[in-house]
Formats: sequence, structure tokens, C-alpha cells
Amino acid sequence: MVNLVKKKIYTISGISISILVISVMMIFILLGAILGDNNNDCDTSSDSDFDVNVTGVAGGDWTVKGTESYNTAKTIFDFMTKKVGMSGAGAAGVVGNALVESGFNPKASNGTHFGLFQWTQNRLEAGGYIKAEEDKTVENELKVLKYELDHGYKTAKVQVGKASDPSTAAKLWDDDFEKSGGQALAKRQAGAVRAYELFGGASINVDDSILGSTVDGANAGEQALADEENTSCNDGSVVVSGSWIWPFSSVPKSGPKLVAAQKFGNDGGFRTNSFHDGVDFGDATYNGDIHAVHGGKISKIVKPGEYGVGFYLVWETTDDGYGISYQEFGDMNDISVKEGDTVKTGDKIGVSRPGGEEYSHLHLGISKEKDLGKALGKSFTDDGTWLNPVEVIKKGLDNDK
Ligand SMILES: [Zn+2]
Repeated sequence: MVNLVKKKIYTISGISISILVISVMMIFILLGAILGDNNNDCDTSSDSDFDVNVTGVAGGDWTVKGTESYNTAKTIFDFMTKKVGMSGAGAAGVVGNALVESGFNPKASNGTHFGLFQWTQNRLEAGGYIKAEEDKTVENELKVLKYELDHGYKTAKVQVGKASDPSTAAKLWDDDFEKSGGQALAKRQAGAVRAYELFGGASINVDDSILGSTVDGANAGEQALADEENTSCNDGSVVVSGSWIWPFSSVPKSGPKLVAAQKFGNDGGFRTNSFHDGVDFGDATYNGDIHAVHGGKISKIVKPGEYGVGFYLVWETTDDGYGISYQEFGDMNDISVKEGDTVKTGDKIGVSRPGGEEYSHLHLGISKEKDLGKALGKSFTDDGTWLNPVEVIKKGLDNDK
């Protein structure tokens, strides 16, 4: 076919330059299509043993540059190294697992499990990024993943992140995150080794400054999250004084809409001791200026690495005995206050930007303990040190009536 086209060009005399140019372009397009097909045919055999038990497999051979699957695998790899701080081996281990779980299809479903890592519905909704089918994108699901790694799956993050061998990393991810019990382990590991080669994993070291440790970190397994309103056994008797408001002006007076894992208190097994010491305002729903929920003094701005914390935290103390934590919403560029500042109810603390990968939500904590170290020491203990911010602010709003 290529020869015929060439022959035609050579035999027609007086052909205009433009027709010649178009003809040559057509040859390249034809050649490209033929070579492209050959490549796909050759490489399919090398990974045809990766049977993926989900519907709707994403496009193309993931080991061939330029296919949709390749791009997704590469996006996962880059996210794990650049945003989570994992080694190239660790990130490759995650990619190998995604291959088996979903075939790199963010819309994959087997009826009860969904997305790139085949989450249950409750886990997929944690963090507040995914509410509907059209939200199931690679970008959103990586936010869900980051949210879990910073909250209930710290062990998976750190162990896999520090791995120096892709095959070991694939097993660790299965042990700590997928918890499949070694299902299709050889395929997870073979995928990891392939990803390690494809994406240059050997040259990427763990970045401890990003991988770090987090207050919310815990070692909890996959658990069904109760979707009913979480209530604390400790705040029924709390008397709230003074003026209080919600941290975002878009929160209705009746209170924020939160999914199970964002709420205060017993979270059904998501975190250590199943306890969440504050509420998470996901930036997909609540974003923009963060207001001081109560008046006080900015006692400390914690940077990652201080107090064993892996994020920025603004600590406000109040004359009527509260310690208030605004954390995980951003870095120094997003924080509007400085240590020593006095703030009134409603003053700007900072800004939570929508669509962030690293800073995906505002975690608001309200404690009866003004000493930051002591309060953080009780991050996983439901002993009344941490109060339910929703209850406190609701009561405080009533004070203004
Ligand atoms: Zn939180």
C-alpha cells in the first residue's frame, strides 16, 4: 500500500507542491498506524497473563508509551514519588498492585469495589472527593489515596515508601493496603518490576521530608465505615462560652455536610483506636478563606517535622480555656497569621484552596487542653481532651441568639 502511494506520486508529472506534501504526510500517517499496531501486537504477549477481573479495562497496553493505560500508570508512579515521597521501588510496587486491582481504569468496578485500587464505596467517599460516577477520575482517586495514606494507612505509606526492591514493595502494599491475602501476588510483583524498569525507578530515592509522619497516621485495616452521625460521649456536658462561627462562610448554620471518615469521634476503625480528634472539611466542598472559629491568640505555627507532625498546623489558644488547631490545609503561603497575633472570631486564619493534592482539607480540632504537646499526645484517645468541633460551634452559635 505504501509502495502504491509512492508510485503514484512519482508517476504523476506536474503535481503541485501542496498535493505532494499532503501525499507524503499520508504516507507517514499510514506508516505510523502500521508500526503502532505492530508494537501493540508484539507487547501484548508479554503481559497477556495479567488477567484483570474487572469490567471496562482502560485503553491500550500499559507498557507501550502513549496509551491511556501507560499514562495512568506513569501518573500513579509520579504521584507516589513526587507527592507522597516514595522511593522508585515503592512507587513501582503501588503501580503493580493497581495493574491487578483495576488494569489502571479509574472507573473499574466488580459491583462492590471501585476505582484504581478497588475501594469499597465508603472508602472511596472518604475525603469527600468522589460523590458521583463522573468524579471517578485518576486525579480524584489519587487524592483519595493520599487521604488514606495520611490518615488510616500510615504503615503502608512508610513501609512501601522506603522499599528498595519493587517486588518486595508490591508484597508490602498488598499486605498493608490491599489486604488481599496474596491474591495474584506474582502478577502484582511482575507488574512492579516492569514499572520499575519503564519509569526509571532505580534512580529515585525515598524523600523522607515528604513521606514523614502524620498525627492522623494510624494502622487500621479496611473497615466498613458507619455512615451515621458520629457523636462523642464526652461533649454532652460541655458549656461553650463566647462567640463562635464555622471556619468557612459556606457552611450552613445547621452544620457542615461530612462523610463518615471526616467526622469527629468513633470512625468505625479507620484510625488508631477508631478515633478522629477533629473534623475534616474537604476542599472540594469547603474552600476559600478560613475564619477563626473563636477569638484567641496564635500561640504556635507548627511546621512539618515539629511535634512529630507531617504538616503545617496553626495553634490558637483562648482565654476561656480552649486550644484550637487548624491543620493540613496548606503551607506558609496559605497561612495568614503569625505567632503572637491576636484574632477575633471570624478573622482570617488562612486559605484552603480547592483541588489541592498535597493539602486537600482543613482538619479543625478543638481541645480543652491549651498545651499543644499534651493535646497532640491525646490525638488517638477519646478521653475528652478533644471535643467535637461541630457540637462546640453549634452551641457557640446559639450563644449569639
Ligand atoms: Zn483529620
